[in-house]
Amino acid sequence: MQQFDVVIIGGGAAGLMCAANAAARGRSVIVLDHANKVGKKILMSGGGRCNFTNMDVLPKHYLSANPHFCKSALARFSQWDFIALVIKHGVAYHEKKLGQLFCDNKAQDILNLLMDECAQVGVTIQVNCVIESVTALASENSTARYKILTSLGEYLCESLVIATGGLSIPTMGATGFGYQVAEQFGLQLKPRSAGLVPFTLSPAQLEQFKDCVGNAAEARVSCCEQSFTENILFTHRGLSGPAILQISSYWQPGQIVQIDLLPHLNLCDYLTLQQQVRPKVLLTTLMSELLTKSIAQCFCNLVPDIKPINQYTPKEIQAIADIFHRWEIMPAGTEGYRTAEVTLGGIDVDGLSSKTMEAKNQPGLFFIGEVVDVTGHLGGFNFQWAWASGFAAAQYV
Ligand SMILES: Cc1cc2nc3c(=O)[nH]c(=O)nc-3n(C[C@H](O)[C@H](O)[C@H](O)COP(=O)(O)OP(=O)(O)OC[C@H]3O[C@@H](n4cnc5c(N)ncnc54)[C@H](O)[C@@H]3O)c2cc1C
Repeated sequence: MQQFDVVIIGGGAAGLMCAANAAARGRSVIVLDHANKVGKKILMSGGGRCNFTNMDVLPKHYLSANPHFCKSALARFSQWDFIALVIKHGVAYHEKKLGQLFCDNKAQDILNLLMDECAQVGVTIQVNCVIESVTALASENSTARYKILTSLGEYLCESLVIATGGLSIPTMGATGFGYQVAEQFGLQLKPRSAGLVPFTLSPAQLEQFKDCVGNAAEARVSCCEQSFTENILFTHRGLSGPAILQISSYWQPGQIVQIDLLPHLNLCDYLTLQQQVRPKVLLTTLMSELLTKSIAQCFCNLVPDIKPINQYTPKEIQAIADIFHRWEIMPAGTEGYRTAEVTLGGIDVDGLSSKTMEAKNQPGLFFIGEVVDVTGHLGGFNFQWAWASGFAAAQYV
C-alpha cells in the first residue's frame, strides 16, 4: 500500500496539468493510467500537431447545461498562461487560422512539456494500471480519505482527481470510468453523445453526392440558431470538415442542417450580372468557377434545365441561387464515438464547485477535463478547458 496526498486517475491533458501544478505546491502526487502511455490523445490531436489553445477563448465557445460554469477556471488559467508555458519550453508554434495555435513540429512537443513540468516537481506516473475500485474512507482519518484498489496494488490519498476524459476514440483508451465514479458518489450525469463528429448520409443521399467525394467548399452551416463558416468536405460516409464538426455538437437526430455553399456571394446578383457580361456562358461553367467542378455539377443537376445564362428568367435565377444558398439536408446520423473528437454532456456541473472542481457533496473528490459537462468548439478550446480545469483543481487538492 502506498500513500500520496493526491491520486489523479487519467494521465491526459487535464490530469498531467493538474499533477504538475499540485506537485508544484508541494503535494505528493501520483498519476494512474490504464493505458501503456499517457497523453495519447494529445499525440493524435490537431492532425499530429496539437491545436493546444486559441487566442480568442471565450465562454461562448463552450457548450454546457450551465454556460457560466467554465468562466471561473478559464479566467484563472487563460490561453496566455499556456502560451507562456509553451514559450518557456521553447516549443515552436504558429497560428493556423481563426486564432488556432498549433505546434510547428509535432504534438509530442506538448506532451514533452507536460512530462517535463511533472518531472521537475517529482510527480510519479504509473501506466498500465487498471483501477478496480475507489472507496471513500471514514472521515476521522483526515490524511487518507480515499482508497484506490488497482491491478498494481492499493493507493491511499487525501484528494482524488478524476481526469479520465470522455468516450470518444475507445481504441485510444477512452472509458466511461469517470461517469461510474460520479454515479457511485451520487453526482448527476448529463446525457452524453458524440461531438465534433462527421455526419453520415442515407444511401440515397450518398448516391446523389458520390461524385463530390473528396471535394471541399467553404460554406456557412447552420442548425439550432448556430452558424459556422468554414470548410465542408464530402466523404464516402457523408459530410465532414470543420464547419460540419462544429455544427454536429448542436445537431439533434431528425433535425435539418442548412448549408450555404456560397456564403460570401449574392448568387442572384452575380448571375444577373453575368447575364449581361457573358450571356452565352452555360450555368454549369459559371458555377464551376465558384465551386469545384464536381460540386457545381452535382447541384446544377437540381436545376431543371441547363442552358446559357441569358436564357433564365429572373424567377429562375432566384431559384438557382436558392439551390446553392439554401441547401437543406437531414443527416442520417453521425459517425459516433469511433471518430468524434469529444463527448458532449458528462458530469453535471451543478454538483461541482466552479472554483475548485471539487464535488460539492464529496470532500476531496475532484473532476476535471472532458469528463465534466463542458465541451469546447473545434479550435483548441477543449485543450484550454483541460489546462484550465486541471490548474483550478491543482490549487485545492
Ligand atoms: C482525434 C482527436 C483530435 C483532437 N484534436 C484536438 C485539438 O487539436 N485541440 C483540442 O483542443 N482538442 C482536441 N481534441 C480533444 C482533446 O483531445 C480532449 O478534449 C482532451 O484530450 C481531453 O483531455 P482529458 O485530460 O480530459 O482526457 P484525455 O486526454 O482523453 O485523457 C484521459 C486519460 O484517462 C485515461 N483513462 C481513461 N479511462 C481510464 C480508466 N478507467 N483507468 C485509468 N485511466 C483511464 C486515458 O488512458 C487517458 O490517458 C481532439 C480529440 C481527438 C479524439
